[in-house]
Amino acid sequence: MLCREVAPKVIYKLGEEVYIASVERRGPWIYAVCYVRYQTEREECYQVVLKLKAGTRYFLGRCDCRDFKYRGGPCKHIVRAKVALREYSKLKAK
Ligand SMILES: [Zn+2]
Repeated sequence: MLCREVAPKVIYKLGEEVYIASVERRGPWIYAVCYVRYQTEREECYQVVLKLKAGTRYFLGRCDCRDFKYRGGPCKHIVRAKVALREYSKLKAK
């Protein structure tokens, strides 16, 4: 997915690196759909879906990148998306 196709539709941007497309509350969970720019192919963005348990630090994440597919663990995109979501939540809380 190209970042420039994602950028106009987002609700929050962290620099030109992380884009939050939607944040939705479902019961105790917060779902966030994010797009994170891949570092070497600068125009490419990966979709990251975060699932956070409200009021806790517990979260699950899924990313489209190869690193996540092979290792299964949180990749750097998931970490960046989580940082962006925390910033977005701070704005919303004001
Ligand atoms: Zn990733």
